[in-house]
Amino acid sequence: MSAYGSLTEQVAQISDILNAISILTWDARTQMPPGGAETRGQQIATLSSLAHERLTGDPLSDALVSAEGEVSAEDTVRLRVVQSVREAVDLFGRIPPTLTAELAGLKTVSQGVWQEARRQADFSLFAPYLERMVALNRQLAEAIGYTEHPYDALLLQYEPGMTASNLQGLFGDLKAGVLPLLEAVRASSTEPRWDFLTRDFPEEKQRAFNLHLAEGFGYDLSRGRLDTSAHPFEISFTRQDVRITTRYDRRYLPMSLFGTLHEVGHALYEQGVAPELTRTALTSDFLGLYAVGGASYGTHESQSRLWENLVGRSRTFWRRHFSELQGTFPEQLGDVDAETFYRAVNRVSPSLIRVEADEVTYNLHIMLRAELELALLEGTLKVSDLPEAWNAKYEEYLGLTPPDAATGVLQDIHWSAGLFGSFPTYTVGNVMASQFFGAATLQVPGLTGALAEGDYAPLRAWLTEHIYRHGRTYLPQELLEHATGEKLNVAPYLTYLNEKYGDLYGL
Ligand code: ZN
Repeated sequence: MSAYGSLTEQVAQISDILNAISILTWDARTQMPPGGAETRGQQIATLSSLAHERLTGDPLSDALVSAEGEVSAEDTVRLRVVQSVREAVDLFGRIPPTLTAELAGLKTVSQGVWQEARRQADFSLFAPYLERMVALNRQLAEAIGYTEHPYDALLLQYEPGMTASNLQGLFGDLKAGVLPLLEAVRASSTEPRWDFLTRDFPEEKQRAFNLHLAEGFGYDLSRGRLDTSAHPFEISFTRQDVRITTRYDRRYLPMSLFGTLHEVGHALYEQGVAPELTRTALTSDFLGLYAVGGASYGTHESQSRLWENLVGRSRTFWRRHFSELQGTFPEQLGDVDAETFYRAVNRVSPSLIRVEADEVTYNLHIMLRAELELALLEGTLKVSDLPEAWNAKYEEYLGLTPPDAATGVLQDIHWSAGLFGSFPTYTVGNVMASQFFGAATLQVPGLTGALAEGDYAPLRAWLTEHIYRHGRTYLPQELLEHATGEKLNVAPYLTYLNEKYGDLYGL
């Protein structure tokens, strides 16, 4: 066997371990009784250290050195594979195995505690776990290394190439565009009707309709499934098994509807990865110990946002699909038309809950979280002061104060899952989504007409060709530039927001 062959075989086995970790994670968040949390944490910690040992062990190291000598510079795919493994091995060499194992175990236990704390709206239950999580993430940042800010080291896990100082520039540009728009919307006398969204929508009918739309987008249910969880997510165990979850509110139709379309966007990305990348370094996030096909969290989020908002929340979409929704809920939506529904699901209303936020206020939720976690990491904010700091930011940015911790500081799973540095990628994703959609509209003849007819194949084909099939072959900036000819740029996103909401609110 060639050195390259030996290397890829070892990587395939590590990928199998990562996929097994993902299955245990999916189970913990959808099926497992609360009592299983502690032993599940141990199981995941064991598998994580096994993956870690294999990544940093001599057999892989020897095969890597030989493969680096064997692969020629012209063989770009193999070169990228070898480079990916080299980057992972070098980074892993800097992270103590005990830290990796402790983080992995803590993640699962603290997610269980977070769920219970949220149920009781009691932050004090979760606080000691969050304190430990912050401390471990600080250690992680030091181990990974950085030149400017410890946050840069954590960002590297989710958005390679992004830094705290880049983010500040991006956030500044966004605020300059979004805040005046929000002010104009608030001053507008337009008040869309939305009373019908809170009528009684039986869960089973919601689920059936959501699956109908998901399949229309191209989500392949022979390689996927939909379950229920406290916080919706997508997870894949290779492109052949890509699962999503949602949550239902009988009295608020948009929750499961747009939540599902969002996760379907993530799932289309994973199902669209080229088959030949299965079990390779180009579908493995070795640093995070995840099996994942996307180039970065931001790139992944660009796809969930594209399908959820640019497609699923468009006037075009509801002109095509509203009659189907009305057919599913004839009593609930009998007195509503497509235009009224479109306006209702795009109503701008500053709220406390990030995942329910409209497109205009969404990034304000993200920016305040990023600022808070930066402060936690620096040590300028104590965990015990977090609920108060959280509430103060909500008052400042959105003019709202959470009535309790469940709708406030405990609403997101991210900190309990140890995902420090991941929040900003939602905003990066929103920005990229507009760039990708703009490029697809320019490059695919007849795309607008196809979307009007409910034909999503041409859009999905372009996205697959330019984004999905490549897995993690390219860095996010490279992928974006190849597909759109541009670097990360907020202008198309701000144009989209101004045109859409200018029209909706008569600005
Ligand atoms: Zn998402």
